[in-house]
Amino acid sequence: MKHTMNIEILKHQCDHLRELLKEFDLILAEGCKDGGCYYVKPTGQVTNGGCRCKKNIEFVVEDIAEEALRIHTVVINETKESHR
Ligand SMILES: [Zn+2]
Repeated sequence: MKHTMNIEILKHQCDHLRELLKEFDLILAEGCKDGGCYYVKPTGQVTNGGCRCKKNIEFVVEDIAEEALRIHTVVINETKESHR
């Protein structure tokens, strides 16, 4: 019973991690659409407040690292359980 529960938690965490990675991909691919974007030169409509990519990347990478660490913790606990 406990095993099934942990798998469900892992699946949920992997889904979340996938979403975060997609977000990260999107920032790298499209930048922040600011006229002064450091990563991607925008075309068409632009904003002018300075590149927000660095901050956006920082946030999303922090979330990725936290979720990966949570997955790691679940897997480590799972491994300990199965070796008992
Ligand atoms: Zn940018």
